[in-house]
Amino acid sequence: MGLPAFEYYCPDTSAELERLLSECGGQAKILAGGTDLLVQIKGGFQSPAVLIDIGNLESLQGISHKEGKGTEILAGTKIAAIEESPLIREKVLALYQAVRLLGSPQVRAMATLGGNICNASPSAETLPALIALGSELTVAGNGSERNLPVESFFLDYRKVDLGPGEYLKSVFVPEQSNVSGSAYLCRMLRGAMEIDIVNVGVWFLMDTEGRCQKARIALGSVAPKPFRAYEAEAVLTGKPLSEDNFQQAGKVASSESSPIDDIRGSAEYRRDIVRVMVARALSMASKSLQNS
Ligand SMILES: Cc1cc2nc3c(=O)[nH]c(=O)nc-3n(C[C@H](O)[C@H](O)[C@H](O)COP(=O)(O)OP(=O)(O)OC[C@H]3O[C@@H](n4cnc5c(N)ncnc54)[C@H](O)[C@@H]3O)c2cc1C
Repeated sequence: MGLPAFEYYCPDTSAELERLLSECGGQAKILAGGTDLLVQIKGGFQSPAVLIDIGNLESLQGISHKEGKGTEILAGTKIAAIEESPLIREKVLALYQAVRLLGSPQVRAMATLGGNICNASPSAETLPALIALGSELTVAGNGSERNLPVESFFLDYRKVDLGPGEYLKSVFVPEQSNVSGSAYLCRMLRGAMEIDIVNVGVWFLMDTEGRCQKARIALGSVAPKPFRAYEAEAVLTGKPLSEDNFQQAGKVASSESSPIDDIRGSAEYRRDIVRVMVARALSMASKSLQNS
């Protein structure tokens, strides 16, 4: 099936992008890698009158790090560039673990981080990792910018906090302390090129007494949008890292999820997988801490 007719623009500067977005109002969609959007247009699920291709915008591509502050990834950065970045592998381990599992090398060469976030699939690979790492988004447009935690960007099933004229500019992952651990894990029916049944990002920070000071546990594919399992996080806080505590956090996270039955798995199966995956991801994160 071919694509329906649309107007196409390819701005060279962020100022031009902002002008086009404001002139087109709600008629326009940003085209990044197109690995979600073009499939949705071909399938008849979307029919934007205008596509604004951000592929030429160097101001939306790149990864940078400020010592002691954190890592900024601009929204148009390709998933492959994130996967291949030694900086991401060293400083943002859970995101590295997530992007390696996104689609195939061909998909990763086209797809962008901003597209994965703004498409807002409940099973999107990067979201639990970014949420667990305490990341923030910068949304720009209409001559201003605003910052918000990643989890606040998702309002409902595939609904994001982007107003008319706004776009996602960048993602900021705060510097990870050497007494913090993080991990990303997902469960698919087959080893690759599959929508996740459950995906999990975890992070924790230890105190000087060897207890967990703070924890974040983010889950995908088990609710209309990715979310933090706050009650499971509370299970870990103030306690030493132990397999018993990881198992307990897994049980509580399972009770906080609200999955559906679909062709990939029943709700009951998904809840049980949450229990297992949360405990496993916490154990993996604790090993990353011991090795650091
Ligand atoms: C074969 C195949 C396998 C896949 N496997 C996976 C997988 O394993 N895991 C996974 O998570 N995803 C997977 N995907 C989905 C897709 O590749 C990712 O979600 C990808 O990151 C989308 O990025 P994109 O640049 O292609 O986005 P696009 O398709 O260009 O855009 C997606 C949406 O985001 C909006 N958008 C993009 N950038 C911005 C911005 N800067 N500001 C505002 N809005 C913006 C667009 O308007 C559109 O609504 C797969 C897709 C295919 C075709």
